[in-house]
Amino acid sequence: MTNEIRVRIAPSPSGNLHIGTARTALFNYLFALKTGGTFVLRIEDTDAERTKQEYIDNIFDSLKALGLNWDEGPDIGGEYGPYTQSERFDIYPKYAQMLLDKGYAYECWCTNEELEKEKEEAVQNHKAYVYSRKCMNITKEQREQFIKEGRKPSIRFKVEHKELVFNDMVKGELKFDTSLIGDFVIMKSNGTPTYNFAVVIDDMLMKISHIIRGEDHISNTPKQILIYEALGAEVPEFGHLGMILAPDRSKLSKRHGATAVSDFVKEGYLTDALINFVALLGWAPSDSQEIKTVNEIAQDFRINEISSSNSIFEYDKLNWMNGQYIKKMNISKLTDLIIPFLSGYDLSELSREKLEKMVEITREPLTTLKDIQNDVSYFFGFDVPLDEVKELLSSELSKKALDAFLLLAEKWNFENEEILHNDLADLRAGFKEKYGYKPKETMWAIRAAITGRTRGADMVGILMILGKEKTLYRTKKAIELNKKALGV
Ligand code: GLU
Repeated sequence: MTNEIRVRIAPSPSGNLHIGTARTALFNYLFALKTGGTFVLRIEDTDAERTKQEYIDNIFDSLKALGLNWDEGPDIGGEYGPYTQSERFDIYPKYAQMLLDKGYAYECWCTNEELEKEKEEAVQNHKAYVYSRKCMNITKEQREQFIKEGRKPSIRFKVEHKELVFNDMVKGELKFDTSLIGDFVIMKSNGTPTYNFAVVIDDMLMKISHIIRGEDHISNTPKQILIYEALGAEVPEFGHLGMILAPDRSKLSKRHGATAVSDFVKEGYLTDALINFVALLGWAPSDSQEIKTVNEIAQDFRINEISSSNSIFEYDKLNWMNGQYIKKMNISKLTDLIIPFLSGYDLSELSREKLEKMVEITREPLTTLKDIQNDVSYFFGFDVPLDEVKELLSSELSKKALDAFLLLAEKWNFENEEILHNDLADLRAGFKEKYGYKPKETMWAIRAAITGRTRGADMVGILMILGKEKTLYRTKKAIELNKKALGV
């Protein structure tokens, strides 16, 4: 018996990496990290029709982006490879033969039509369908006849009828009546293994010690345990995680929002926030501090403390958490991530320094990176639309504020934050003294003129990013509008 802890994530590449699979991967990864174990990635692509290379690439990229790096896998190899099931097709028949030889399996020559008929009968009799075992004891002659007819057999596992008990790491003791299972196919007539068979052979040969996966697989576990037992192999520990449900308690699906990790990323979610968020689906930190890195979570993580019930995927909470990550992220890194969301703008207008400044002063209210698209339009181009602020800019107050601003700003140094800050403060104070205007009223007029909005980022930052030329140009435009409105 080996004491080495080996866990795996075994996605089927029939779609992009689902957020639920990301959580399963995370819990396996954390378990390995915590115990000094090995985290294996295996691609389960036995279903050739549904498999696509783009999904395999997406699974690799998404897991990497989430920081869930594997120790063994298709791309990096390892002692127990290959790690892609379609490259292991020569392995499975050997073990199927072993089960046939030992009497744990038998050939099934039934045609699809015959099987369909059995199923229909079960429906008519209001019974749960289990295979009739019709082929369990066929004679040599019948077998030869089937071969002559060109039939190809599948191989069925002979299910031993008993009460099967195992201790689930998450759910505790689980009991199954295996007589309800029915002899299931382990090798299809086309020579490919079924999921339940391939998974056991691979987990066994890859020496997987703990299988942590979603509870949607719980009905497969007794079948798999029976195969381990028949092969005389050590049965690994199992832990089944509750499902992730949508806020309306139905299965999380695309109609609720993004479900694939890459879709969340496209929507402007940070992978650090995503991984932190999914960790909290079924697990709670021992302190009340929810914002944690994967390494911090690993310190606190105990598999037997995972909740056995389903978790609700609260998009609102993810939004909140994403906002928190945006607020505290390193500006240069954040800018790199935001750039793809600004494809509608001519970024060459701004130096890298100004771009980072723009991100710094506009990130506060962001929920997703995508949100920035609307918030930064006024940093680009010479003109800004003034429709929203027309009324504000038509007042006597605006006239005075803009005239004074134009006069003073011509002499200001737009490169120095501190001086600019003081100049602006002086202007506000002067207006208060001279006219009694509230400082914020003065600023509204200036902000409206140069951004076309009444609210937004820090003014000093805006002025620095726009620079003198654009600022004066826009101020003049607003003054023209003001003159027209006042009829002067
Ligand atoms: N390939 C299976 C899936 O994607 C997972 C198998 C397992 O974890 O046992 O659902």
